[in-house]
Amino acid sequence: MGSEYNETSEKLSKIPKINFTKLFINGDFVEAVSGKTFDTIDPRTGEVIARIAEGDKEDIDLAVKAARHAFDHGKWPRMSGFERGRIMMKFADLIDEHVDELAGLDAIDAGKLFIPLKMGEIPAVADLFRYFAGAADKIHGETLKMSRELQGYTLLEPIGVAGLIIPWNFPSTMFSLKVAPALAAGCTMVVKPAEQTPLSALSYAHLAKLAGIPDGVLNVVTGFGHTAGAAISSHMDIDKVSFTGSTEVGRLIMQAAATSNLKHISLELGGKSPFIIFDDADVNTAVDLALNAVFYNKGEICVAGSRVFVQEGIYDEFVKQAVKRTKAWIVGDPFDSHVHQGPQVDKKQFERILYYIEQGKKEGATLLTGGNTCGEKGYYIEPTIFADVKDDMVIAKEEIFGPVMSLMKFKTVDEVIERANNTIYGLACGIVTNDLNLSNRVSRSIRAGVIWINCYFAFDRDCPYGGYKMSGFGRDNGLHALHKYLQVKSVVTPIYNSPWL
Ligand code: NAD
Repeated sequence: MGSEYNETSEKLSKIPKINFTKLFINGDFVEAVSGKTFDTIDPRTGEVIARIAEGDKEDIDLAVKAARHAFDHGKWPRMSGFERGRIMMKFADLIDEHVDELAGLDAIDAGKLFIPLKMGEIPAVADLFRYFAGAADKIHGETLKMSRELQGYTLLEPIGVAGLIIPWNFPSTMFSLKVAPALAAGCTMVVKPAEQTPLSALSYAHLAKLAGIPDGVLNVVTGFGHTAGAAISSHMDIDKVSFTGSTEVGRLIMQAAATSNLKHISLELGGKSPFIIFDDADVNTAVDLALNAVFYNKGEICVAGSRVFVQEGIYDEFVKQAVKRTKAWIVGDPFDSHVHQGPQVDKKQFERILYYIEQGKKEGATLLTGGNTCGEKGYYIEPTIFADVKDDMVIAKEEIFGPVMSLMKFKTVDEVIERANNTIYGLACGIVTNDLNLSNRVSRSIRAGVIWINCYFAFDRDCPYGGYKMSGFGRDNGLHALHKYLQVKSVVTPIYNSPWL
């Protein structure tokens, strides 16, 4: 274990004050109608960080009412895209100015590493708002050359009130992936952060108000999925739901949309992504990439390359190096800059991962390293590698969402393509090889939304990502994301006596 919570004053200085614990509706922080609260927990210790207002159906109704009014009568959808972009740029600058606070909130709430948050993730959130700010005044329809004596054009209009339901593993990134394109499109919205990590979304709401985003445009309702979340997906006055989370809940959201107002939906769901290493790879590099692909963010990442396929020629050397390097992986307090891996987000996730580790052992996979909890308190788990994993074992099929690598040996290209595709999911795939023809062939054969060749987690705001198969549909990042919050209107008029017809 790395050093413990609150051990040094340097670490204490990074733990932010909790300023916002209430719902943000129509530009104000308010208590839940019921007056109820829930605890948000520090995964380093299992202790309560703060009590947060527990929004439910009545609060979602109030937030939707505010968002509806802001959409139907407010200036946000009606102002020029340039002006919306200017305000979003200001929002981005404020995010940069509060980077320590925002990084600290996600670190304490989700157990994520403070330094990567401060140096990478939060600045990327600000840049994502800048990216979509730049797109806000470039939303154009088409001129239609129609048959007969007609002329027409299309308008791209904001879709309306968006319900944005996000998970706990990347609280800031997920917030920005949904909110930034929705704002740029001119939508108004109700955001529901995950109940495990409500803190940073409330701070973003505060900064949005300071930036000049009008009241009612961005509302944040903290609360639980089966109450507040379900009230969003079944709401008759929400026009679109964008969801990131489990495949199981994605299905519920689709059902709720179907039995309410047929709202538009996009779903970013689970994964069990293959990471394929061919014989010609440099083993050192392949090990680096594979450990990162599985253990990054303590394995709590939907695109984790958790099924690692290694070709037989380098398999033994790969195993040797991977085990050695994993044993040197430091698990501990996420505010400690030497630590590679913090605690799992909560007790439920911690127990779920331990259950899968037991399953792996029971089904006969070989535990090469890890498998234990660490520390006296909190939700820390050792990075774990299983070898001899068979394709039909539970740990090869189900998403663990934890630091657990399932290692598998393969012989031929055809074999690995078939085995890699043998999953209900289709989110991502990693390929390590120096053979261009081989990487081209494999990348076109894998049924997944993102392929990373000789890299992993190479996210970029301009590069769309999302799922094939049961990993969902719709894309975050890139201009594809903007179009999720727009709809097309065709305008047609007769044209008489044109000399050109
Ligand atoms: P989850 O589906 O339980 O929760 C996600 C969000 O949905 C939370 O805000 C939750 O409160 C809400 N929710 C829960 N039940 C709901 C309901 N009945 N109606 C409406 N909303 C509801 O998932 P989780 O456990 O928080 O996150 C882990 C899962 O998310 C993993 O399966 C992971 O793969 C997936 N995930 C996917 C991506 C992606 O981009 N594809 C990213 C991160 C996480």
